[in-house]
Amino acid sequence: MREHIDIVAENLGKTFSNGTKHLIAIENVAIEVGRGKLFCIVGPSGCGKSTLLRLLIGLLEPTTGKVILDLDRRNKGIAYVQQTASLLPWRTVLQNALLGAELKGPLNSTIVERIKNGIREYGLAGFEQSMPPELSGGMRQKVDIIRAIESRPKILFCDEPFSAIDFVTRLELSTRFKKMCRVHGITTVFVTHNIEEAIFLGDEIVVMSGRPGRIISKYIPALSIGSEDAVKCRESPEFSDLFFKIWKDLGNENSLSH
Ligand code: ADP
Ligand code: MG
Repeated sequence: MREHIDIVAENLGKTFSNGTKHLIAIENVAIEVGRGKLFCIVGPSGCGKSTLLRLLIGLLEPTTGKVILDLDRRNKGIAYVQQTASLLPWRTVLQNALLGAELKGPLNSTIVERIKNGIREYGLAGFEQSMPPELSGGMRQKVDIIRAIESRPKILFCDEPFSAIDFVTRLELSTRFKKMCRVHGITTVFVTHNIEEAIFLGDEIVVMSGRPGRIISKYIPALSIGSEDAVKCRESPEFSDLFFKIWKDLGNENSLSH
């Protein structure tokens, strides 16, 4: 059976103009994301990853090309986790975590319990009544991820959601994150500049060039060992092969010998 495609972008380009100054952020980007797939976008800082994500969500108008999201899925719920957490400062941790579910429909005790569990599982037990300014950047980011995942979106867009989180916690979180996306069949577009994170998470990875961002390569990781565990997967022979391929794609081919 042919795979159902939830997100299509064709010939996508974005130029930012400010008077006579024009900056081509991305050009000629084409992607397809299948239902329930985790699609990773990797690229250097400033190559247009966030711009691409915002075009896919519809927060920015493209200069060229178009984006088509499956209408049924879009109407049943989209979530977006930004690079820096966007919590409401007047709401507690619990109230912020509930926000996504709240916007989808009336809350009941089952949903509240589920989200309280999520808070505990993400290591934030005891902080339910804390206000965002009392939290570290990494803790705020976790609340944002709980808010997004627990709204059980059909399509999830993530912009470097783990970048403020320390390495060890980041491995735990990405394992949990992948599991949640799988269990709930969430179609996910995940932007990162972290090659290893992309190799673990991605059903498919696209690599972008420096600005103007274009897609320069595509990979399907297909890890043979520990594909559901961000630490164990590093034992897969495919992991290091792919790491060095992407490393080269990003223009780092010679830097190891320096
Ligand atoms: P990345 O997320 O890969 O770091 P961005 O998408 O944030 O890259 O930015 C790509 C380029 O587009 C950068 O040079 C940035 O300065 C520029 N840019 C992004 N948003 C805007 C905007 N709203 N107006 C003008 N330039 C922008
Ligand atoms: Mg960015």
